[in-house]
Amino acid sequence: IDVKSRPNLALWVTKDHKIYQKEESYPACGPEECVIHVKATGICGSEIHFWKTGRIGDCCVTHDIILGHESSGQILEVGSSVRDLQVGDRVSIEPGVACWECDMCVRGRYNLCPKVVFSGTPPSDGTMRRFVAHPARFLHKIPDNMSYATGALIEPLSVAYNAIRRASPYLGQPIVICGAGPIGLAAALCARAAGASPIVITDLEQNRLDQAYSMGFRKTLKIELGWDRLTTAAKIREVMGTACLPQLAFEATGAASSINSACYALEDGGTLVQIGCGKPDIEIPLMSMGFREINIITSFRYQQSWPVVIRLAAEGVLGDVDALITHTFPIEETVDAFETCVDRSQLAIKVQIVDE
Ligand code: NAD
Ligand code: ZN
Repeated sequence: IDVKSRPNLALWVTKDHKIYQKEESYPACGPEECVIHVKATGICGSEIHFWKTGRIGDCCVTHDIILGHESSGQILEVGSSVRDLQVGDRVSIEPGVACWECDMCVRGRYNLCPKVVFSGTPPSDGTMRRFVAHPARFLHKIPDNMSYATGALIEPLSVAYNAIRRASPYLGQPIVICGAGPIGLAAALCARAAGASPIVITDLEQNRLDQAYSMGFRKTLKIELGWDRLTTAAKIREVMGTACLPQLAFEATGAASSINSACYALEDGGTLVQIGCGKPDIEIPLMSMGFREINIITSFRYQQSWPVVIRLAAEGVLGDVDALITHTFPIEETVDAFETCVDRSQLAIKVQIVDE
């Protein structure tokens, strides 16, 4: 039977912290859009936040919306103005649809577009449904030998790639990555591919560090809350096995204590790349960072990353990216997939929802 006749199951979040699945109508295809049969979607920590707290910063769930922004799928329909894509093409979805007209877009920094429409972020509906329409400009073909699961990892890998590109670690450069969640691990994969070495990964949770270890990152450090600068620096040096502290640290938790650890782990004159997003009013030791000439680089989502990251993943340059995926659920069990993310006994890193 025709795939389009299947129910368009969608995952909704409410402002009072509930998630539910409900059938949506089949999407209309605009002239510059394609309709995609979504085959794989990852659950992101931000979605857990929208569910459990109803907001991220100023971005609030004010009415029911469909979540999802880490997706890949197959094209079912092509809009009348679309030239480069065809029915049957396998694509990864870039979820941040920029306006393409403002200064930031024109300058290529379209991740900073003030008019961006980002899938699954209030007030926009997302990709966590069987069928979705999406602008063709933000669909990227994946090679035949790339799975849809990998295609859905291009989003978190792009977050990591953008951060790595902004700091350009060089061959043999020692680095620290704070946080061994999907983003920290993706950053580790990108940094390793860029040549950074040794790479020390820190986290509060041993099971997250075990995952890092199994992905080939053998220098892990279980941070304890309350370590001061001397203790942190000594532990980092010990694990790293180098005389000096690293000049580059990637922070991928957003927690104040971890930002502090990252600063403590750095050599004077070093650079902190802040990827993690935490509370809006985090205190950082700015004055002592100033006395030590610590640079801060921020990194927001991504721009012009999909084609490169697809190529890097397809060619194996990043190593085994699929190792990030710990759980897979069929689309009918999307609510269970979300429950798995918050069940600490499940040791989930990246949970994906798939549809054949
Ligand atoms: P996650 O919650 O799955 O992983 C975070 C990891 O940090 C966990 O393993 C946790 O144990 C560890 N951690 C938490 N507090 C810590 C502390 N005080 N010290 C040491 N480790 C600590 O999150 P994720 O999906 O990997 O995302 C990581 C961060 O990146 C989040 O803050 C997220 O909001 C942010 N993010 C940023 C962008 C961007 O564009 N800059 C994009 C996506 C995600
Ligand atoms: Zn714009």
